[in-house]
Amino acid sequence: MKKITLIIILSSIGLTCGVSALFGFAGSTIIGSFWGWFWISLLLQFILFGIVNSYLLQRDTQAFQQQEIDMLDKLSKFTIKLTCSYCQQSNLVPIQLNQRNSFKCEGCNQVNGVSMQFMATSLTTPIDAVKLPTQDSSSAEFRVVQ
Ligand SMILES: [Zn+2]
Repeated sequence: MKKITLIIILSSIGLTCGVSALFGFAGSTIIGSFWGWFWISLLLQFILFGIVNSYLLQRDTQAFQQQEIDMLDKLSKFTIKLTCSYCQQSNLVPIQLNQRNSFKCEGCNQVNGVSMQFMATSLTTPIDAVKLPTQDSSSAEFRVVQ
């Protein structure tokens, strides 16, 4: 454990006991004993700290989750150029992959739906030589000069 953590914990315990002692002195002047007030206020402080702590933790978690959602939202948004299906004017349209998309044409104000299609393509590899058949059943080879 780091020294600073130890100092924080010790000073926190000291402060809690100090507050409890104050309650003990103040309470015992009215009714009951010092230790009765001391333990009750110590217990109350622990309960209060627990409630505050769990509230703060929950708030942090919620803020973090919201941040993640916002980030995913930004990442899933991109803009493409689409031609209006009514008047053929091209429009820049923000697209989100995780929801239905539509846009209002800048030219004719009609609302267009957006249909997304994905397909797989094979990747081509660059070639460095091509063999072409010639008339006399041999072949001519062309090489790419590098
Ligand atoms: Zn249009």
